[in-house]
Amino acid sequence: MKNKPKKPESALNVQKGIDQPSKVNPALTGGMEKFRKKKPAVGEYVEGILKGDRIMLSRAITLIESARPDDRETARQLINECLPHSGKSIRLGITGIPGSGKSTFIEVFGISLIEKGHHVAVLAIDPSSQRSKGSILGDKTRMENLSTRTNAFIRPSATSGTLGGVARATREAVILCEAAGYDMIIIETVGVGQSETAVSQIVDFFLLLMIAGAGDELQGIKRGIMEMADLLVINKADGDNIKKAELAKKEYENALHLFPALPNGWIPKVLTASALYNHGLDGIWQIILQYVALTKQNGYFEKNRHNQALKILHDSILLSLSNSFYKKPEIKEMINQTEKQIVDGKLSPYEAAQELMKKYFSIIKG
Ligand code: GDP
Repeated sequence: MKNKPKKPESALNVQKGIDQPSKVNPALTGGMEKFRKKKPAVGEYVEGILKGDRIMLSRAITLIESARPDDRETARQLINECLPHSGKSIRLGITGIPGSGKSTFIEVFGISLIEKGHHVAVLAIDPSSQRSKGSILGDKTRMENLSTRTNAFIRPSATSGTLGGVARATREAVILCEAAGYDMIIIETVGVGQSETAVSQIVDFFLLLMIAGAGDELQGIKRGIMEMADLLVINKADGDNIKKAELAKKEYENALHLFPALPNGWIPKVLTASALYNHGLDGIWQIILQYVALTKQNGYFEKNRHNQALKILHDSILLSLSNSFYKKPEIKEMINQTEKQIVDGKLSPYEAAQELMKKYFSIIKG
């Protein structure tokens, strides 16, 4: 047999190559999958948070927003571990109707605080965002400059669940942010719903951002919300708007005089500002510092935080009790019958309530 002629060696011949590795490093994908699937243990969350690791802080907030029972248990332990490291901050509530300039304000104000050496966390309460498709912090372009700062942490609101659930998650997020070293916590709400009452249960100082309207100064915002405010800021006091803003300031000052005095000895203030041009923001910071100094000195600052915690305790008890009561099928049935009798004038609502309670306790005793 004739030997086959040897092919001349050439760079043009196709050489049998080696298997090409996947474009994505398998070690890395394996690692990432593990990272995604495996939830950190409580100790890992705590360690990361106390180090100021923002990714761990974010994951911890996702955990406390979860309604899954096993997550709730981890969250409970996490909060307990972080509580001793919390509390050392000013908790500032900011509200205002959409368009009043909240995000512009928080961005400029937040950056100025960071430049003063503070660590700023921004949280939001917006239980309406599911309905309105993210009216508040859903828009990622908000606060872009602030979000790139190392000492800032911005967290869009928990968008699902009841107002009570969202408020709880926000309060717990405050604790985690404080444990992570943020000494200025800003909580934003849209200023049109009940979330302001929830926020007033979390914050030390409440700032209401307004704009000078066309003569209807007091209409846009509910009176109850104005009563909660420690400071009213008429924003957009720039250009042609300055005069209108000054006029609005006077009107609000007059309106605030009619409100009952606050128990903390503080007289609510009204200021004008322009978030866009960074005018008046330092004056706002000075007012907040004055408030903190006054209320720390007269004991209200601490007392208010204690009262907030105790109110949460009692609200939670009432909520658990009423859930337990209304969920019992026997009670549901009895209520249906009873309601009709009450409406027909055959039964007193007080007596019916007593009967229902008796029934409830007999079910509980079982
Ligand atoms: P938010 O919906 O309350 O968060 O309001 P934004 O911060 O998104 O502001 C709504 C609009 O008002 C934007 O176009 C801002 O640029 C503008 N704006 C905010 N603050 C000021 C201000 O101080 N002066 C002026 N002229 N415009 C402002």
